[in-house]
Amino acid sequence: MSTTFEGLGIDERLIRSTKELGYETPTAIQEQAIPVLLSGTKDFIGLAQTGTGKTAAFGLPLLHIIDAAAKYPQALIVCPTRELCLQIVKEIELFKKYITGVSVVAVYGGASIGLQIKDIKRGVQIVVATPGRLIDLIERKAINLEQIQYVVLDEADEMLNMGFKEDIEFILKNTPKRDSTWLFSATMPPEIRKVSQRYMKEPKEVTVGKVNTANKSIDHQFYVTTAMHRYETLKRIIDFNPGIYGIIFTRTKMDAQEISERLTREGYDIDALHGDLTQAQRDKVMGQFRDKSLQLLIATDVAARGIDVQGITHVINYELPDDVEVYTHRSGRTGRAGNQGICISIIHAKEMYKLNQIERINKSAFHKLDIPSGKDVCRKQFFHFMDKLLSADISHGDYETYVPMLAEKFANVDKEEVLKRVAAMEFDRFLKYYENAEDLNIRDRSKKDRERERSQGNDRVRDQGRGDSRKAYKTGGGYSRLFVNLGTKDGFYKASFLQFILDMSDLRKEVLGKIDMKDMNSWIEIEQSAAQQMIRALDGKNYKGRRIRMNDADSGGRR
Ligand code: AMP
Repeated sequence: MSTTFEGLGIDERLIRSTKELGYETPTAIQEQAIPVLLSGTKDFIGLAQTGTGKTAAFGLPLLHIIDAAAKYPQALIVCPTRELCLQIVKEIELFKKYITGVSVVAVYGGASIGLQIKDIKRGVQIVVATPGRLIDLIERKAINLEQIQYVVLDEADEMLNMGFKEDIEFILKNTPKRDSTWLFSATMPPEIRKVSQRYMKEPKEVTVGKVNTANKSIDHQFYVTTAMHRYETLKRIIDFNPGIYGIIFTRTKMDAQEISERLTREGYDIDALHGDLTQAQRDKVMGQFRDKSLQLLIATDVAARGIDVQGITHVINYELPDDVEVYTHRSGRTGRAGNQGICISIIHAKEMYKLNQIERINKSAFHKLDIPSGKDVCRKQFFHFMDKLLSADISHGDYETYVPMLAEKFANVDKEEVLKRVAAMEFDRFLKYYENAEDLNIRDRSKKDRERERSQGNDRVRDQGRGDSRKAYKTGGGYSRLFVNLGTKDGFYKASFLQFILDMSDLRKEVLGKIDMKDMNSWIEIEQSAAQQMIRALDGKNYKGRRIRMNDADSGGRR
């Protein structure tokens, strides 16, 4: 028989509220954590992903143990972002519906500190806070942590990724009556282990589901160039990724400012975040970045501390940081909440040893990419623009009225010419700029580099011309064969099809093997390691109003 909330030993009033919320049986983390936390176990580590019911796993025991009659902060929940902070408070409010006299407050940056101070003074027992704002309140002596008995660290790995390590330690040091520390995390990197060893006593540890050792949702890439070409390389990377929503990191605020000004002059949506800004200026820049009126943010590590923006596609290291931990913080800004992210580093040939060091410590592999040529950039921009053109919303607006006039005006111009003219208007800037663009790659690579590339699979079998694709797949080693419901009837010829699938998936043509195109369908040979990325990028998307279906041809059907 499965466990019930009654069986876990929580207060009857909490059982009532969870029932009302529709919780019938406890989730795995609740089942494992709640009895332990209620039993008086002091320190606890719960390894569980988000969405597994962690909030109730610590929220219900806290509400059970809190002394409602004592009107001072007794429990502190620290979490990485304001969104999470608000979500935790909301859930606790729902859980405590039938318990009178307990209040909970959310304390986070970017909102009026005055109001939060007032709330705290009302006599709350549970404080849910982001680290930065909490430290602010401690320093202003607006919050008294003297009596805090319970500290919960939620999403501890995210907090460390965001550069809050010192803040967390400061908080743990400034809670003298802390009697229990409950740490929840999706992963267990060495830094968290260290924090737990330093501040927790023989914690009871439970794991729910699989625990990732490193953040696998980030692709770590690097480009090698000379110091002289660093800026130009950055520009090319930005141009090669037309939909980029990214943060660029520099070592100094002077670099951040100079690069930001230069890119702004050259027409990019970018602003800088550095220590010289006032809080109001900082909020303004962050506001613009958050609502995506800025596509790029350039920042120093200190200024970017604690940034929590969802949906960052790329983190770019204009220069590699010296410290592995700093690299981890930077890259942790992307690839969050189940999304795929890319962390790009522009490096000098002499810095290869630093990459190796990061690889060793972070246990994550780096991929070397060629800096795109001018032609690559133009092609990429071109396809991006064409996609935009094809997906433009024409359902609103009175276009029908103008169509006859347009038709008359274009009576003697064919479709191809119209397309060319549209492209010319949009691409003039890129074509002119990149017409004679130089190669920014360092072509004279060291032996070690070459070995590295080889070990990354450039020596794979490229049996492009011979045999049927299934045979090549079977014998080529490490290849998958994908089916897709697009073919020559969709207006593709081989080269345009190749370009289309590569552009959609952001993969390089080296990952592909034989392409077999038929009228209605095609089969694509692709390196196994890249197959899922391609399927994710194409399956379910639309092409000319038709839903693309892509799956592994040899696994017997759709995902
Ligand atoms: P969390 O991991 O705490 O963010 O929870 C994820 C979602 O699961 C939230 O929407 C909760 O309300 C919900 N939830 C948590 N525990 C249970 C449960 N025992 N039964 C059903 N839903 C739950």
